[in-house]
Formats: sequence, C-alpha cells, structure tokens
Amino acid sequence: MTIDTKSLEKILQKARDIVLIGHFNPDGDAVGSVTAAWHFLRAAGKRPRIILPSPYPETLKFLDPDNPQGRIIIAEEHLEEARALVRDADLIVCLDHNRLARTEYLEADILASKAQKVLVDHHLAAETFRFDVAFSTVDVSSTCELLFWILLSLPEVDGDTARIPLPCAESLYVGMMTDTNNFFNSVYPDTFTMASLLIARGVDKDAMQEKVLNCYSESRTRLMGHMIQDKMTLLPQYGAAYMLLSNLEKDEYDYRPGDSEGFVNLPLAIGSVQVSALFTDNVDGKYVRVSLRSKGRIDVNRFARRFFAGGGHRNAAGGRLYMPLEEVPAYFEHALASWPEEEKFS
Ligand code: 5GP
Ligand code: MN
Repeated sequence: MTIDTKSLEKILQKARDIVLIGHFNPDGDAVGSVTAAWHFLRAAGKRPRIILPSPYPETLKFLDPDNPQGRIIIAEEHLEEARALVRDADLIVCLDHNRLARTEYLEADILASKAQKVLVDHHLAAETFRFDVAFSTVDVSSTCELLFWILLSLPEVDGDTARIPLPCAESLYVGMMTDTNNFFNSVYPDTFTMASLLIARGVDKDAMQEKVLNCYSESRTRLMGHMIQDKMTLLPQYGAAYMLLSNLEKDEYDYRPGDSEGFVNLPLAIGSVQVSALFTDNVDGKYVRVSLRSKGRIDVNRFARRFFAGGGHRNAAGGRLYMPLEEVPAYFEHALASWPEEEKFS
C-alpha cells in the first residue's frame, strides 16, 4: 500500500515540538501507534512527546520509551503538564481515535492550540474536518498498520524497512497484533505483508507475543475464570451473552489497568453466541464501561452508537452507561429487544 504523504512531509519539515496523543483507556494499538511515532520522529531529529488520557495496560510498559524525554504523560495524572504541551506544540498528531472527545480532558485544548493537526486513524466517521491532514481509512487492521504504510511512503524511508528504527517496528507490530487479536480478526492481505516486512526487519514475533499476552498476574487469570464461571449470562433468544465486572471484584482480584483485555471475546467461543458484552464499573464508579464484540455481519458499532453513547468497528465497539451496574442487565435486554433489524447487519 502506498500513501500520498506530500502534505504531511511539508508539515513535518517545519515541526519541532510534536505532541502525539492516543485515546482514553488506551489499548495496544493506541500505545503502539504513539510510541512507534515517537521513535520514528526522535530518530528524525524532532522533539516528540506522548500524551495518553488515562493509564495504559502494564503489559505494554515495555513500549514506553526508556528515555526521560520519551516517557508517556498520563493526562489524568498530570493534566497541567499535558495541557501545556498541547498549547505549546508546533504539531499535534492524534492517533487511533476518530473524535477529539476520545481524548477526554484534552479536546478543548487541542481545538484551541495553534499547532498544525494531523490524524492517523482507522475508525468509521472520523472528524477529519478538524485536522490539517487526515489519514483515515477503515480498510486496515489497525492504526499501527496505517502508520506503517505512511512511514514506508515517506521519502526518508522510501519503502526500505531497514530505515525504520527497531523499537518503532516493534511498537507497530504490537499495535497490529493486539487490534487483530493476534491475527484472529480484521486481517487484510496487506496486514500479512506488514507483518512479514516487520519480522524481516528484526521484530521478534514470539517475544512480542510473550510480553503482551503471557505476562499477566496470577490474579488476572483467576479473575478470568471467575468471569466465565460465575458472571457470564447467556440470552439465547438474542444470541447474546454478557458479563458484569464490579469495582468490588476488581479489588478482590487485585485488578490492574488492562487486566480485562480480551474477556469480552471469551463468550464468542460458544457457537450460539453472536454478540458479547462486558460491562465494567469505571474506577471512579461514575459510569459503566461498555465493551461489545460480534461475529460476522452483526454491527456492534451501530449498536454502541445507538444505545451506549459510543462507537468503534463493526465487530468491536464500546461506549458508556451512566447507571448503576445492577441496572445494566435490564437495559441491555431492552437494547437487544429494540435493536432495529436494519441496523443489525452491515
Ligand atoms: P474496547 O471494547 O476494546 O474497549 O473497544 C473496542 C473498540 O470500540 C475500539 O476500537 C474503541 O476505539 C471503541 N470504543 C471503545 N470505547 C468507546 C467509546 O466510549 N466511544 C467510542 N466512540 N468508541 C469506543
Ligand atoms: Mn485501533
């Protein structure tokens, strides 16, 4: 895949202080894309900084640049520092989110900043009009894949992956690997080409899998067992399943950010389950986080937009509910019952 990067090249030439921003509740693709961009820009002589709105999973810590100038700034914990960086930047690059609202605390600051703005994202209906340059397509596995093809198209790289720094290549691989569930979904022919080129570049595929997928705590695996055994409810009339995860249970199982990553996929292993939902108490108890997954043509993106104030992709979406966790099952059943047929399939 080649991408026209001329307008980006012009912006990059002038930019020095660059702020890279991912989305709230960052996942592997968000962390992978901001850290990949950081390594690339740093090697190109720029002064990039990374801001994530909220903490990211511990299993991804190894991607955080081990450099005082690289450390990821969590806006939730260092809001003033994050705001100052956004205000003073020459260039802001938003990665892996289609709306500025997904940066949570920073939307107004980004809009007010004089910096040039670039978007790199793979979600539907992106707010491209808010950016000077927008790379937005849904025909890729992940933001990391889109970023990979952008970097490869830049004249400094010119299709030669040897010119991509290894830590950048590793971050790109991890973002693609996590967003595709380790090649389980959203994989295109170009995705395999990317993986092949990155492995040839020196990315150790097995090491990446080991670090991201096999480095959880014992309590996380026990929590997973508890969720399946005690918390999974099937609604056969809708081909649906759901699980609830409360703050009380999180305490009991020594929950860390990212521990519930992948839980929502588990009920899909049941043949009759077409839609799966995970409802999680947010840390502050102010709302319930909604995570949705589906099989085939069932469109949970539209479901999330209509009933859960969210969005995402056809087979993976999320949102929020402002109600106590106990009230969620009744609301979910009501949503399933009133989900219009024409919105169900895409
Ligand atoms: P997850 O279930 O892994 O948290 O999210 C799945 C997908 O839904 C991701 O692509 C993510 O970007 C999207 N998503 C999750 N939460 C929200 C939300 O609150 N709003 C929107 N617009 N998208 C979300
Ligand atoms: Mn993504």
